[in-house]
Amino acid sequence: MGSESETASTSGLPLASDPDCLLCTAERITPWHYEDEQVWVADCMVCSTPMIVWRTHGLPDAELEKDLLGVLERIASERYPEGFWIDPIRRRIPDHWHAHARPEGGFFGT
Ligand SMILES: [Zn+2]
Ligand SMILES: [Zn+2]
Repeated sequence: MGSESETASTSGLPLASDPDCLLCTAERITPWHYEDEQVWVADCMVCSTPMIVWRTHGLPDAELEKDLLGVLERIASERYPEGFWIDPIRRRIPDHWHAHARPEGGFFGT
């Protein structure tokens, strides 16, 4: 486990990112549902529910967060027509914004 956590202050990069961060490296090992210049949505490799991830390593302000969650809600309503809820808790990676959509009544715990 050699973790080099040098702060990447490379000039010209528009987005903050952390080479050790799972969400920044974003390996496409699960199906992706959506992506644009701000976010991507894929099945979480841990819980297999749709997860939205901001492309920037950090946390958006409340206004932007609402917009981003709107994207997740759109995808979740197709995936879970019976109902779903948004789980905003970042258990594993607290400093990189992401949120899960969970099926109604179908997922509790971590
Ligand atoms: Zn997950
Ligand atoms: Zn990150």
